[in-house]
Amino acid sequence: MTRKALYPGSFDPFTNGHLDILLQALAVADEVIIAIGVHLSKKGFFTFEQRKELIEEVIGTDLIKRVSIVLFDNLVVDAARQAGATILIRGLRDGSDFDYEMQMAGMNGEMADDVQTVFLPASPATRPITATLVRQIAAMKGDVAPFVPEAVAKALSSKIANNG
Ligand code: ADP
Repeated sequence: MTRKALYPGSFDPFTNGHLDILLQALAVADEVIIAIGVHLSKKGFFTFEQRKELIEEVIGTDLIKRVSIVLFDNLVVDAARQAGATILIRGLRDGSDFDYEMQMAGMNGEMADDVQTVFLPASPATRPITATLVRQIAAMKGDVAPFVPEAVAKALSSKIANNG
């Protein structure tokens, strides 16, 4: 049986923290579906299509056989079912992630007992990284190279240069 896991998030943009969790997820599942949450009221920095293209670029040809990327605008548990995933991956950085994630895991479990949440611990090197801080640092022309894959760093600087 192929074990499929859904890894949902905003990924605006995809950071080294997301990559760390993705690689860990591939150790527990055969296939990982990265699911980019689409909130029409919350446009974000990169468009949803740009986020998808950037993740594809980061993943490259090696991992693409086991990783796919989808957009979703419904409940995470419904997106998991649609993708045929029985595992829901969430990364944990600290206590505040833990509190929030426990609530979500509890409520998702109540709504869908066929989808199992699996928490993966952030690796020490990527634990402090948040996509929000990455965007802020990039906007102030700081160096984001330690926090994101190279393709993402390039896309951030060209988007910021073009916007102003
Ligand atoms: P962020 O919280 O940075 O905006 P997302 O909403 O895209 O990120 O989060 C998607 C998932 O990735 C969540 O489970 C989140 O906890 C996890 N995640 C985000 N950043 C990291 C990190 N640095 N280390 C481990 N997990 C992370």
